[in-house]
Amino acid sequence: MHAAKMEAPEAPYTPIAEIPGLVAAARATFESGRTRDLAWRKAQLDGVIRMIRENMDAIHAALAADVGKPDVEAYTAETSFSINDAELVKKKLDGWVRPQRVRTPIISQPGSSYVQREPLGVVLIIAPWNYPFQLAVAPLIGALAAGNTAVVKPSEVSPATSAILARLLPRYVDQDAVKVVLGGVPETTRLLEERFDHIFYTGNGAVGRIIMAAAAKHLTPVTLELGGKSPCIVDSEVELDVAVKRIALGKFYNCGQTCVAPDYVLAHKDVYEAFLTKLQAALREFFGPDAAKSPDYGRVVNARHHKRLMALLQGEKIVCGGEGDEAARYIAPTVLRDVEPDAAVMQEEIFGPILPVLKVESVDEAIRFINRRDKPLALYVFSTRRAVQEQVLAETSSGGATVNHVWMHLAVPGLPFGGVGPSGMGAYHGRHSFECFSHRKAVLRKPAGMDPPILYPPYDDTKKKWIKRIL
Ligand code: NAD
Repeated sequence: MHAAKMEAPEAPYTPIAEIPGLVAAARATFESGRTRDLAWRKAQLDGVIRMIRENMDAIHAALAADVGKPDVEAYTAETSFSINDAELVKKKLDGWVRPQRVRTPIISQPGSSYVQREPLGVVLIIAPWNYPFQLAVAPLIGALAAGNTAVVKPSEVSPATSAILARLLPRYVDQDAVKVVLGGVPETTRLLEERFDHIFYTGNGAVGRIIMAAAAKHLTPVTLELGGKSPCIVDSEVELDVAVKRIALGKFYNCGQTCVAPDYVLAHKDVYEAFLTKLQAALREFFGPDAAKSPDYGRVVNARHHKRLMALLQGEKIVCGGEGDEAARYIAPTVLRDVEPDAAVMQEEIFGPILPVLKVESVDEAIRFINRRDKPLALYVFSTRRAVQEQVLAETSSGGATVNHVWMHLAVPGLPFGGVGPSGMGAYHGRHSFECFSHRKAVLRKPAGMDPPILYPPYDDTKKKWIKRIL
């Protein structure tokens, strides 16, 4: 079946008047103390895994309805990704919760010191529409593993997936601990008036600022998983055939609506023409002569984004693609050449199937170009030269980076996934998800009785001598 965007069913919004009660219920559950229990936490992770396994087809259908997501993409980036994450977290949890001993200095002797992870309380998770299942579930896995209760607010832009989350989660996890709120700006605004112990937001930076301002009123810490223009450097010394395929996959996956998609390419002048020729060939190989007929090519989420993306093509030199069908939310995989740095397409994150390819004279020029702009969520460099790889990594700043591929770093559970500067703050995935939703409590445990008199006044010369010797 080809992945044309289907009409999404309307998801019923949560009545605003019910929102404070839902948050209060999640808090009461946290205060009951049962979420601290390791067996409870693992049971929740099991519930998440079962929920996905038993409803995979329905989840994939919702993802197809919302964003025309091809089945393989739904499996790799949403359902199986979430299962693997939950399984890993469950397997490692015993080790992660164990107190971490640190050295106790002589001044605090006798005693033992350690870091103890404790849950934060009630967390709010606000998810976007582009990976609407995974980006709600992956933070939830971290929150539950760390012993928190959670309010989940999926995106109103992906109503079918939001509806399925609201329907399934209460059946598979502790429904007193996980509450789903459906809605858009008014519902989220009301939610943000409540006090949470952590807010985990994924989406654009403009809303990120609103979230942070609302959180500040309660001194609530935030994790902001934002976006931006992630650059991709192609050096003159490069395995060009492989580079082209990897970039084409990473850009046009989910129809370009991926926070870590290569937003634009800075290709060395020596390989510029060859890169463009091979890229056209790769796209034809992937999606055939008409990508609209490919079962493996997605759709733009809605008419607003379709219009925005088509407008970016105005006045640009199109190498391939450029065709759009608003009713079907289709935009052909599009490559642009000789794009000016001040072009509209180079100002904002593109977030669609349009790839501008700019020519650079050198890797130094590419680095200067990147460093004059906001720090991106991800950065990619394709080069066979170790020195060039090292130079790019050392001289640029980004949330994450992959060398000779795109966005694969986010599938390494040991690596923290998050942005820097305008691309976000905080990180998660694997152990980092557990840490994100845990407080690291510093504990010094001393014997009750043994009490050397040295620190107490009055300080005679002998005491002073010892204090100065010890400290
Ligand atoms: P979106 O429109 O679904 O919004 C995200 C969430 O914010 C939704 O739940 C929405 O209800 C809420 N929201 C919207 N306006 C709000 C307001 N005024 N007040 C409170 N809440 C509000 O998604 P989006 O922002 O279009 O998502 C795309 C952006 O997200 C891109 O910039 C992309 O790069 C970024 N993104 C980042 C990551 C990451 O992991 N870093 C992942 C996916 C997407």
